[in-house]
Amino acid sequence: MKPKVAIFSLTGCEGCSLAILELEDRLLDILDAVEVVNFREGMTERTWDIDIGFVDGAVSTPQDETEVRHIREHCTTLVAIGACACLGGLNTLKNHQPEEDYRRYVYGDRAEWFPTITARPISSVVKVDYELPGCPMIKEEFLRFVTHALAGRTFTLPDHAVCVECKKRGNLCLYEKGEICLGPMTRAGCDAICPTYGSKCEACRGILNEDVLKAAGINLREQYNVELDDVLADLQLFGAYQAKALP
Ligand code: SF4
Ligand code: SF4
Ligand code: SF4
Repeated sequence: MKPKVAIFSLTGCEGCSLAILELEDRLLDILDAVEVVNFREGMTERTWDIDIGFVDGAVSTPQDETEVRHIREHCTTLVAIGACACLGGLNTLKNHQPEEDYRRYVYGDRAEWFPTITARPISSVVKVDYELPGCPMIKEEFLRFVTHALAGRTFTLPDHAVCVECKKRGNLCLYEKGEICLGPMTRAGCDAICPTYGSKCEACRGILNEDVLKAAGINLREQYNVELDDVLADLQLFGAYQAKALP
C-alpha cells in the first residue's frame, strides 16, 4: 500500500505547495511511491484518509484555525512546510501594526468582510510532527524528508547556523562590511544563499535555539562590537512571532 499524501494551504502565497509541483522529473518518482489524495493546486478529487499531510501558509484568520484543526484530525503525520507554516512568516508583518490600520489598508471599506487574527505558526494551534522551514521551503529538503518517511527513518533538520555554510562557501562576512546579518543564529540548510549573493540573512529558516542565540550574542559583541538586541531588531520579516518568545 502506498502512503496517502495530502498538501494543504492556509494563508500565504502557496509558493511552497507550488515548489512541489516544480519538482518535475523528481515529482514522477514521488508519485510512483505515494498516492496523492488531496491537493487543491494539483487535482480536483479529495479524500480525508491521510498518512502524511503537508501544510503551507500561516494561521492568520479564524478560518485557518478551524481548517488546520480539521487537517490535523485527518493526518497521521503533519508536516509544516515553509516559513509561513513554521514561523508565521511574512504574515507576521501585520502583527506590528494596529489591526484597524492594516485591515483598512488591504480591504478598504469592506474590511469587516474579512476577519483576521494575529498571524502565527500552525504549531501554535495543533501538534506538528515535522517542520521544513524556508521561504520557500527547500525542495531538496522536502525530497530528503519524503525519502526518510518512505524508508521509515526519522528526519532531522540541520542543527547548525547559516554561518557554517556561508564560511564553507568562502564568503566575506557581511559584519566585516559593517552590515547586520541573522546568519549566526539562523538554522542552516539553505547553503547560505542570501549572503552568497550579497544579501543579509533574514532568518526565513527560523532562529535555531537559545544556546546558539546566546553564543552568537557574545561573539558578535566581542568580534564586531554589535549588540544582540540590534541584530534581533532585524528579525521582522519572517520571525516577528518567534521574536516575541525570545529571551
Ligand atoms: S513560506 Fe514563502 S513561499 Fe512559502 S507560502 Fe509562505 S510566503 Fe509563500
Ligand atoms: S555573512 Fe552572515 S551568514 Fe555569512 S558568515 Fe557573516 S554573519 Fe554568517
Ligand atoms: S540565508 Fe537566511 S534568509 Fe536566506 S534562505 Fe537562508 S535562512 Fe533564509
